[in-house]
Amino acid sequence: MRIGVDLGGTNIAAGVVDDNNQIIGRASVKTNCPRPEGEIADSVAAVSRMAAEDAGIPYDEIKAIGIGTPGAVNNEGVVEFSSNLGFNDTPLLKLVEDRTGKKVYVENDANCAALGEQVAGSGNGVSNFVAVTLGTGIGGGVILGNKLLTGVNGAAGEIGHMVIEHDGLACPCGRIGCFEQYASATALVRQAKDALTRDREHMSKMWDLIDDNIDNVSGKTVFDAAHMDDEIALKVIDRFVEFLSCGIANLINIFQPDILCVGGGISAQGEYIIKPLVEKVEKKRYTKHSKAQTKICAATLGNDAGIIGAAILCK
Ligand SMILES: [Zn+2]
Repeated sequence: MRIGVDLGGTNIAAGVVDDNNQIIGRASVKTNCPRPEGEIADSVAAVSRMAAEDAGIPYDEIKAIGIGTPGAVNNEGVVEFSSNLGFNDTPLLKLVEDRTGKKVYVENDANCAALGEQVAGSGNGVSNFVAVTLGTGIGGGVILGNKLLTGVNGAAGEIGHMVIEHDGLACPCGRIGCFEQYASATALVRQAKDALTRDREHMSKMWDLIDDNIDNVSGKTVFDAAHMDDEIALKVIDRFVEFLSCGIANLINIFQPDILCVGGGISAQGEYIIKPLVEKVEKKRYTKHSKAQTKICAATLGNDAGIIGAAILCK
């Protein structure tokens, strides 16, 4: 029996994962950043015990713990840098092994989520798989020939920082025009606010949904208005999906995976996101004439992908 831990900036969530990649017990505690790395490792150990208890499994029967963490993780299980957790050359693998006596594996959290989706979710176990997660930023993971692409420093798969607009918006990473400045959930909200600011006559139905206060705009506002055939909301979504399709066509051109899944809350908007995305990528992909084509679909595991993927590291 294995435990997968999703170590996030807000919560540390652990799950006991069985041989069928099902979570059979779980627990969660607050991360309470900023804290010393040793204390965070204490919490990882504690939440693992709690998950085993929840599953009704003696802790001795847990053979290994897999951890998904923000930041780049090197071959020794050292998190070289994570701004979310305040980690700087943090030997997370060793810190948790010392506290649990278990074999520990550590990998980047987005890579764990990709592994989880590949093996137990929308990937159906195909050997070439790309996962794209639209959230505050854009996370990603690439699996080719059943092997997770980690790169020379563990930082491979940072697809959110692929530039799609050379003279575009500034990104905190230091570059201009990164994918996540245009196609993350955060970007959608910003684009909706921009559209409302230009809508001086208040023609959009979004105004009613936000009580005329632009600070209340969320991703849901845009989709709720789209359901009411609001033209401005539909235009915002169309432009957003245009940006999204640009980045995703790039990924497909480079990797040609069997399946590419799109996750994050807004990926559930199939009619407004996945369907037009497939149509737009169709026109952009280099391999228009190939018989075999990448299938694009929504992720299916939600937040559990990270826990299940972390447990898969232990196999
Ligand atoms: Zn960037």
